[in-house]
Amino acid sequence: MVTSDCLFCRIVKGDLPATVVHETATTLAFRDIGPKAPVHVLVIPKEHHADVAALAAADSGLAGEVLAAAAAVAEEEGLTGGGFRVIFNTGEHGGQEVFHVHAHVLGGRALGPMVSA
Ligand code: AMP
Ligand code: ZN
Repeated sequence: MVTSDCLFCRIVKGDLPATVVHETATTLAFRDIGPKAPVHVLVIPKEHHADVAALAAADSGLAGEVLAAAAAVAEEEGLTGGGFRVIFNTGEHGGQEVFHVHAHVLGGRALGPMVSA
């Protein structure tokens, strides 16, 4: 993967617009373009890693920073009282479509079963 071809690397570079809700030196969080819940934010490391397994293997500290950013987003979006869900879709069976690791932070209503049968 050449990072200039990667959708989320282009958002990090500012080449593609996004509604950014949280930023740290190493992470970026922005609203999902096709929200599946009242709050649906994607949290990414600015550095390109294909998926959560690759990220954890390459830099577990950065993986922790992504989780900390997801928790901060949940707090800032008012989700901590009612609860929320964090999802890393990974690979084909996980339904991953964008191969730059991202945490989905979902909430704002009861989200129902984790997966449908
Ligand atoms: P996944 O299936 O886990 O790879 O999720 C990819 C997510 O990226 C989907 O929920 C899309 O709606 C979202 N998405 C795709 N393009 C953009 C974009 N330009 N800005 C924000 N979210 C996007
Ligand atoms: Zn990327």
